[in-house]
Amino acid sequence: ANQVRLQAIKGVESSVPPAFSFDPGEEPGQIFGENVFSLNVMQKRLPKSVYKSVVSTIEKSTPLDPAVADAVASAMKDWAMEKGATHYAHVFYPLTGLTAEKHDSFLDPVGDGTAFASFSGKTLIQGEPDASSFPNGGLRNTFEARGYTGWDVMSPAYVLENPNGNTLCIPTIFISMTGEALDHKTPVLRSQQAMSAQAKRVLELFGHDEPDNVVAYCGPEQEYFLVDSHFFTARPDLLNAGRTLFGAKPPKGQEFDDHYFGAIPERVLGFMMDTERELFKLGIPAKTRHNEVAPGQFEVAPMFERANEASDHQQLLMTTFKSVARKHGMECLFHEKPFDGVNGSGKHVNFSLGNSELGSLLVPGDNPHDNAQFLVFCAAVIRAVDLYGGLLRSSVASASNDHRLGANEAPPAIISIFLGDQLADVFDQIAKGGATHSKEKGTLTIGVDTLPNLSKDPGDRNRTSPFAFTGNRFEFRAPGSNQTVAGPMVVLNTIMAEALDHAATYLETEVARGTDFNEAVQALLTSIVSDHGKVIFNGNGYSDEWPIEAEQRGLKNLRTTVDALPELISPEAVELFGKYAVFNEREMHSRYEVGLEQYVLSISVEANLTLEMGTTIILPAAVRYQTELATNVSALKAAGVEADLADLEAVSVPLAALRAGLKELAAAVAHDHPEDGMEAATFCRDTVIPAMAAVREAADVLEGVVADDLWSLPTYQEMLYLL
Ligand code: ADP
Ligand code: MG
Repeated sequence: ANQVRLQAIKGVESSVPPAFSFDPGEEPGQIFGENVFSLNVMQKRLPKSVYKSVVSTIEKSTPLDPAVADAVASAMKDWAMEKGATHYAHVFYPLTGLTAEKHDSFLDPVGDGTAFASFSGKTLIQGEPDASSFPNGGLRNTFEARGYTGWDVMSPAYVLENPNGNTLCIPTIFISMTGEALDHKTPVLRSQQAMSAQAKRVLELFGHDEPDNVVAYCGPEQEYFLVDSHFFTARPDLLNAGRTLFGAKPPKGQEFDDHYFGAIPERVLGFMMDTERELFKLGIPAKTRHNEVAPGQFEVAPMFERANEASDHQQLLMTTFKSVARKHGMECLFHEKPFDGVNGSGKHVNFSLGNSELGSLLVPGDNPHDNAQFLVFCAAVIRAVDLYGGLLRSSVASASNDHRLGANEAPPAIISIFLGDQLADVFDQIAKGGATHSKEKGTLTIGVDTLPNLSKDPGDRNRTSPFAFTGNRFEFRAPGSNQTVAGPMVVLNTIMAEALDHAATYLETEVARGTDFNEAVQALLTSIVSDHGKVIFNGNGYSDEWPIEAEQRGLKNLRTTVDALPELISPEAVELFGKYAVFNEREMHSRYEVGLEQYVLSISVEANLTLEMGTTIILPAAVRYQTELATNVSALKAAGVEADLADLEAVSVPLAALRAGLKELAAAVAHDHPEDGMEAATFCRDTVIPAMAAVREAADVLEGVVADDLWSLPTYQEMLYLL
């Protein structure tokens, strides 16, 4: 093999995993939450009245008393400094989808040449990062270029360890001077409130007096790839774009299914143990780990938590995985499609509603009354997803996720619901007016004693549906592995707010009119199923027939990001988000603009890289090999031997295609980007991406032809199987 590759392979073979730094007898519980400024820590360290005030802010969303903030800040600082923190950082979640943090020292100069450690309530509550370079989609003019960060009391502060010094991290929202959201956290909090208000109305109708706030729970399953650092650094595309822009399919792919749930390689297991330990310290409840479908692909799933905490934890999980992987001589890839022709990575968002008083509201109950309530919440999901499937699709729209959705490995871009046999059967009967015969269990009439008990066994599983009921929750499978779960959770909360509002309003009106409650529930369910039942699909979402049928049903098939993003600024969406005070129209437009901007940026980076690698790595290798063959042909001719030109041709044809492709791509890259975001994105999709694909196609043919010692890019085979 080529020197560069050979060196990388030798490096992989000789790499030694780091020694375990912990006592193998250590119980997981011992370190869990060790670095979190949790309620428990606060209770121990704060005066009783201060503690009570914080709890009430967390539990009942009462505004935070500024006097309380000083006491909390002081206790937080002492605790963090005992844990070795020298700095504090407001951590926020800008629209890039990444995590941002601004660090400040605890030390304040006193004036006599010394410095004093301080941390006031004011600095805890509000920060002012110079954040003018974060995308804002036109929300901030230069004169109001500053953004503000504000402490999110609901998400605990924590100490992040680093060999070079620890930092106290404070999860914050990030807003403009006018109070408009510049981040992913602010709308999670707003939408959570909106959903809760409507859910409580429904619960009250079912006889729950002044129920506690209803929260959205989120349990994200995170898929990722690991590659050895030696290969990673030898691939400019992985390094700069997070995915391979070149690479022929390996002779052995995932067809054998021998990796899925197989034994975890020793080196990877060491990495997993180490990451879990770090997550535990931060109070992140990592639970499940296993191999995924593709070689080199794995999954981690923490226990579900309140959506706000879950999405902060999810961001922290990704950064932790990246840094621990580096310690182990590997790179953790969260790109949705790092390797063509090999399974991509998603992040399934398991979603339910509930609270500690009532449990999950998406679990069938033990009696007909509870089941009726369960069915109303399920029906609300059906209405929400049918009316706003396009918004759900837009919440997972990105250049990288476009490679995955609908590519026969992930659900299609068509958003439908899978209910499973039992629930589908129940709703089927409700659609027919109810009071008919249930499959196994007698007559089905809502609310009266004859409503059958529903089994809690989720029964069958359908892995091809983007939105599947799995017994006590729905699983949204379209999110990409690199995306924040905040986007989908905001949409889910808001569309559920609308659907629950609809249900509550209908039932309240009917009850006021004197209609029997059970009859009203029955009528509500029947009308929801007949209006929105078309979104229910229990068949194979990967089949060729489904897109055709979906179109006949009137379901949207928004294949690319460019198709999906306009959903954000549709009149229905603007009205919905405005009505529930989650986004105003300016905020919606800003998210739309930022989405387009990010799309154009990531495709432009890839296009430039493709051009560069094609020109400086692939083309020279092919030319050298072509020259070698041509020299051979002329030598043979000179010797009077008849030369076979087939080998030469096998290089020359794809080489000509590569040259033509590079020329075309160079023209596309040099083309002035249209000012308008939508035009620029459309140009990327329709001109730049096809030009990149043509270059890659020729290059991948060459990889199979050019002599191995001339090929310097690590191959798929090497990257996927050498761990
Ligand atoms: P599977 O592979 O069967 O889908 P996993 O165990 O990999 O299941 O992940 C399931 C995820 O769903 C976990 O994060 C789990 O905590 C989460 N989950 C379980 N119950 C709920 C619920 N009621 N609401 C939200 N998430 C849930
Ligand atoms: Mg799973």
